[in-house]
Amino acid sequence: MIDSHCHLTDPRFSADREAVLERARQAGLAACVTIGTGCADARAARELARAAPGFVHCSAGLDPFSAHALGSAFAAGLAELRVLLSEGGFVALGEVGLDYHYDLSPRRVQGEQLAAQLGLAEELGLPVVIHVREAHAELASALEAFPRVRGVIHSFTGGPAAAARYLALGWSLAFNGIVTFPKAEEVRAAAALVPADRLLVETDSPYLAPVPRRGQRCEPADVVQVLARLAALRLVTVEALAATTGENARRLFRLPLSPPAGDAAVRPAV
Ligand SMILES: [Zn+2]
Repeated sequence: MIDSHCHLTDPRFSADREAVLERARQAGLAACVTIGTGCADARAARELARAAPGFVHCSAGLDPFSAHALGSAFAAGLAELRVLLSEGGFVALGEVGLDYHYDLSPRRVQGEQLAAQLGLAEELGLPVVIHVREAHAELASALEAFPRVRGVIHSFTGGPAAAARYLALGWSLAFNGIVTFPKAEEVRAAAALVPADRLLVETDSPYLAPVPRRGQRCEPADVVQVLARLAALRLVTVEALAATTGENARRLFRLPLSPPAGDAAVRPAV
């Protein structure tokens, strides 16, 4: 079981981050990917990954909010991101994308900032984590322009038609607590149709806690509820879906297998 998208750097985890990770381990997670939004957050994410090798992995990208905050310093931010990713320790570029819901930056600018980062991912050979709100047609066109770049549409909230377009382009889709929300019929319809080898699960914690804890702080262990709902609607067992989605995340992000429990394997012989 892998939580392919969480935000462990969020201040809401400051008081009990260790306990949160321990609960994730107890729940049976093999790994989680904490997403860096902006370079400073990505550095913090990398610190968390270094502190929990093999269990916490991290990404770095200029999401629409960070990109907007950079303003005219976006080019400098992109240069900083290039240096950061080149240093290593990141399994993906992201999250990056288009947000037409908040529309912070003009849509043309959002498109340019996304294209610049897709180009960087292609150059560095990294998979990409995409954030998209109310911009499926425009995003699909943007991805089409980078046929060698692959990755995941995180927190997928579209319907079957949008899903089909991303799948045809070779991208994977990740679902979270939204699949448990009563009004998410379209999202569930899409989730039922995704081929098994393109399906990922995530929490997007601390956001989007699944029902019945909706509205409360979400954490990686909650990916179990997401898997349970998805397994029910895809008519497979939770165990089988955990194994396939875990393997998909491992393949996409090229995650190494977790080190064995305990430190016997890494302790030098004396
Ligand atoms: Zn996110």
